[in-house]
Amino acid sequence: MENKTFSFGKVKGMGMVEVMNMETIHANFSGLQYLWGQYKRSTDKRVKEEIAECFKTYAGEYIIRFGKYKGLTLKQIDEINRSYLENYLTHNGDEEIRIVVKTYLKYHPEKIKGKYNVYQQRTYAYYNELKQKINDSSQSSMEHVVRTLGYIIINGKFEHCPWGCDMHSKKYQHALLKKGMDGSYFIYCFKCGQSKNFIKFVCEKRGCHFTEALEWISGILGIMVSSVPHKSVAEIKKEFVGVEEEIVLEKRILPEISLQGFGFNKGVYPPEFYERGFTVKDAEEMEIYFAGRDCTNEFRNRICFLVRDLDEKIVGVVGRNKYSEEEHYDYWARRLGLQGLSREEQIKEIEKQNCKYKKYYNFQGFRSGCVLYNANRLVNSSKEEVFIVEGPFDVMKMVLKHGYKNTVGMFGHSLSKGQLYQLYQLYENVREKIKIYLLVDNDEAGLKGFENNVKNLQELGFKNIYKCQVKNVTF
Ligand SMILES: [Zn+2]
Repeated sequence: MENKTFSFGKVKGMGMVEVMNMETIHANFSGLQYLWGQYKRSTDKRVKEEIAECFKTYAGEYIIRFGKYKGLTLKQIDEINRSYLENYLTHNGDEEIRIVVKTYLKYHPEKIKGKYNVYQQRTYAYYNELKQKINDSSQSSMEHVVRTLGYIIINGKFEHCPWGCDMHSKKYQHALLKKGMDGSYFIYCFKCGQSKNFIKFVCEKRGCHFTEALEWISGILGIMVSSVPHKSVAEIKKEFVGVEEEIVLEKRILPEISLQGFGFNKGVYPPEFYERGFTVKDAEEMEIYFAGRDCTNEFRNRICFLVRDLDEKIVGVVGRNKYSEEEHYDYWARRLGLQGLSREEQIKEIEKQNCKYKKYYNFQGFRSGCVLYNANRLVNSSKEEVFIVEGPFDVMKMVLKHGYKNTVGMFGHSLSKGQLYQLYQLYENVREKIKIYLLVDNDEAGLKGFENNVKNLQELGFKNIYKCQVKNVTF
């Protein structure tokens, strides 16, 4: 494409793409800031038209200078991660960045909306390629990785068994690193009989997921994937040995708990609860209580959500601060007479008083990662669709305000193994059909969580996963 030039002022005769990507054009202004400033301020119609044309034609060539895609153009980022543009960059603090990204998106509407097959395809292809390249690496490269993990190994023999069975025996006698018949490396110990695929060994020793291990090993060996070959997902999935076991499903039976000490008084809620638009009836329907003045444990002043397992046993209580973070610090700043200080100084002082904001408080011994909030109510409900949201208040809104009864909450951004296990238990037989809607927060943490959640659900065999932006359901 021919690069058009500007015909006015300071940028006269300069290429549009070049100006747009200039790091500094004068003083502290970048090329893009200069252009956007001129567009807003100039009264000259021609100047406005040229800048508008530059944005429309070349927005895709704009290079991002920060974050995880630093150095890539918007077009390149679009190919890797559309949602980073749509949900993250469009909220950037700098107006000119938001404008250039929005202009790009306006003129490059997404072809396939909603369904994440393309994402799935790319992710599988990418990791498959990494795995292949690791398998194709030399024995000495693999030994280098083993040494990076902290083990001593010479010519394929470990000094001692990496599972620790022969610490007092002769050295280099028992454990081996070898390439197996299937072309992948594995570690085997003759003494204790332990055997493990090399990549899974890395997972075990580093305490990470399969895909993280692939990335880590690739980093050490300098393996890169430049062009991802086009293979069908089904084909690639077959090549992963036992994909389902890659997510080790965590089945944990939680003990039933007692509600002594909470001091719940039926029908009593703080004003902050009603301000969210909920009623006593709503609260009772969802089994939400307030730990008020009769509370004798750490839940005092918290809105408490009872959590049940799929057998309806109460296995936990999650206490949500009745205040938002901002309200919390406002309250304590007033109480401690800190109104004159900046928010930062206020927070420092308040934290000194041991009153740091804690959004959630969990019942001792209860691991919120083991259960999805509200999953117990889904056991006998329709199996056509399920909505997955972050916090328990989001669940309430979906169920009570929007009528989506099949909603569960993760207590955070990502689905833990225990929660994946619950979904598996609930929908094992309809995995190919059920529609899963993930409601994501429009921030980086939310989006990162979303990508991992999609991957984990797909690895479990769920096929129809959709992203729902929170704004679409008007929270
Ligand atoms: Zn051993």
